[in-house]
Formats: sequence, structure tokens, C-alpha cells
Amino acid sequence: MENIYDVIILGAGPAGLAAALYTGRANLKVLVLEKPHIGSLLMAHKIDNYPGHEGLTGHNLQQLMKNQVAKYNVQFKECTFLGFDIFTEPKIVKTDIENFKAKSIIIATGWSKNSSSKVPGEQEFLGKGVSYCATCDGAFTRNLTVSLFGKGEEVAEEALFLTRYAKEILIFVNDNKLNCDPSILSALETNEKVKIITNSNLKKISGSEYVESVEVEVNGEIKDYKTDYTFLYLGTKNPTELFGEVAELDAQGYLKTDDHMRTKIPGVYAAGDVRSKVVRQVTTATADGTIAGMDAIKYVLTLKK
Ligand SMILES: Cc1cc2nc3c(=O)[nH]c(=O)nc-3n(C[C@H](O)[C@H](O)[C@H](O)COP(=O)(O)OP(=O)(O)OC[C@H]3O[C@@H](n4cnc5c(N)ncnc54)[C@H](O)[C@@H]3O)c2cc1C
Repeated sequence: MENIYDVIILGAGPAGLAAALYTGRANLKVLVLEKPHIGSLLMAHKIDNYPGHEGLTGHNLQQLMKNQVAKYNVQFKECTFLGFDIFTEPKIVKTDIENFKAKSIIIATGWSKNSSSKVPGEQEFLGKGVSYCATCDGAFTRNLTVSLFGKGEEVAEEALFLTRYAKEILIFVNDNKLNCDPSILSALETNEKVKIITNSNLKKISGSEYVESVEVEVNGEIKDYKTDYTFLYLGTKNPTELFGEVAELDAQGYLKTDDHMRTKIPGVYAAGDVRSKVVRQVTTATADGTIAGMDAIKYVLTLKK
């Protein structure tokens, strides 16, 4: 049977965890995705203005919230959110470990600059050989050498798609193997165009008008690889690239919602620091998460079967 979540929550800060508490208690099937070790809450040394608690570190407060949520069968996975297929039903959430399906989505990724720092050359060559989407740009790679960077299902599926066009496909994985569906792995491993290079980290993208090469650290050694196109699944998209399809953004790149935390896509919400608003604190993040969670409950329960 297809594994479809009622609600997928992106982020395990106060906004995401408040939304998880409400949707979990409503007995929905809920998954929280968390990029490890980042987020404003974790950076807060001491929180004295969250009612009912004094002197807690952000880390302690997150743990208390997680323990409470865990009582309601909410699932957690550590991974990096990479993008959506938002116009399908169910909606697809792409991450660096796996793609997940959901009826509704709550974006609560906060405002961490860590999640959007780009690789040197990435911004400069965006649209000139740098892409985040093989299914969108694959047709431009006919008879070219392409490289892909990332890990897991997303990069594997995208590489497989490119075998229809490119003449050579280099898959750089920052783990010691490409973790993905065995049938996809086998299709890649047996395709003579494809080379999988493990333990590799992208350092730089170079070229003149278009991308010409990538500098990669492989097992600690810096190497240059010729490439005409490079596809990145590293979690380096900025808010516009990540969420522009889903919500209008304000001048600073925060997501605009209505008072119910709804974006412009039905069933997709934004809550917490990621949202365009006046005050960014733990109290306001939990309030947003509560409202988004309650609306998501209504949305899921009234969906046509
Ligand atoms: C140094 C510091 C001190 C602060 N002190 C206080 C204080 O004393 N009192 C107070 O009320 N507020 C304080 N704040 C503000 C408060 O921490 C934030 O307003 C609050 O944490 C916002 O909650 P959030 O859930 O929106 O985002 P965050 O707490 O930032 O959580 C975001 C979550 O999203 C996840 N995430 C991000 N990107 C991805 C991705 N691509 N894929 C998967 N998951 C992702 C992160 O892992 C994290 O779990 C402080 C902030 C900072 C930086």
C-alpha cells in the first residue's frame, strides 16, 4: 500500500513541533523532517521569555517539545528538504534521503542562513549549466557530460532520468555509497555512461560563459572534472528557489500567508520564522504552528477520498 502521510512538517523548531503536537493529537499520520544541528532554537543559549519555562537552553526546550510530540505517534526523520512536486496529489516532498508523499505540508524551516549557503560558482552559473532539476533541464544535456551532487533517492532518480540524454554522467555522493532503491541503483550501475564517485564534496564550479568544470574533494584529495552541466541536490537553494512556487515572498524572502498560515497552494502552510511577520520569537512560532496545524487537520479531514 502506498505510504501517504496526512501531514509532512518541514522543520523541528517550535513552529514545526507545535504543528506536530496538534496534528499528532488529532490522530493524523504525521512526519516531521529535520535537518540536523541547525535552526534558531538550537542557537538560543538561554530562553527566559517562553511562558512557563525559565533558564532553558534552546536545545533543552526543543527536547521537551519533542518528547511531548513523541507520545502521539509522530514520526521523525533527519534529512535535508530539497524541493516539492506540489501540483501532484498526493504532494511529493523531496529530500536527500528519500521522497515522501503527503496530503498536506507545513513549512517550518525557520530562517537559518546555514541552509542556503551556496558553493562558489553556484550562483554565478545558475541557469548557465547549474541546475536543481534534471527533469526540468535534462533535455538540454543531449550528448553532454553532466555531473550530479547529493545523496540518496533524489540524486539517483534524477541521474537515471539523464541517462536518456547525456553522453556521460558523473554522480558524486558525499556518503560511502549511493543509498537508493535497489532497482534504480542497479540500472545506474549497469549503465556504461554512469560513474558513481563516493566520499566526494563539491568545492567549486568553474567556467567562462557556461560551466566547464567542477572541483571536487574525493577521499580528501582535490580533483578537477570536466562537465558541461551540473545538477545540485545539496540543500543550497535560497528561499525563492525552494518556496517561490508555493508562496509569494516578501522583499526579504519570507513567505507570505493568510491568517490561517495558508500559502497560495491549498493544503500547504508556512509557520514560524520562515513566514513574513513582525515578531520572530518562540511564542510566535508556536502560535503559527498551532494555527497551521489546526487548519491542516480540517484540510485533511475534508479532502475527498
Ligand atoms: C541566538 C538566538 C537567540 C534567541 N533567543 C530567543 C529567546 O530568548 N526567546 C525567544 O522567544 N526567541 C529567541 N530566539 C528566536 C527563536 O529561536 C526563533 O524565533 C524560533 O526558534 C523560530 O522557530 P521556527 O520553528 O520557526 O524555526 P527554527 O527554530 O529555526 O527551526 C527550524 C527547523 O527547520 C529545520 N530545517 C531548516 N532547513 C531545513 C531543510 N532544508 N530540511 C529539513 N529541515 C530543515 C531545522 O533543522 C529546524 O529544526 C533566538 C534566536 C537566536 C538565533
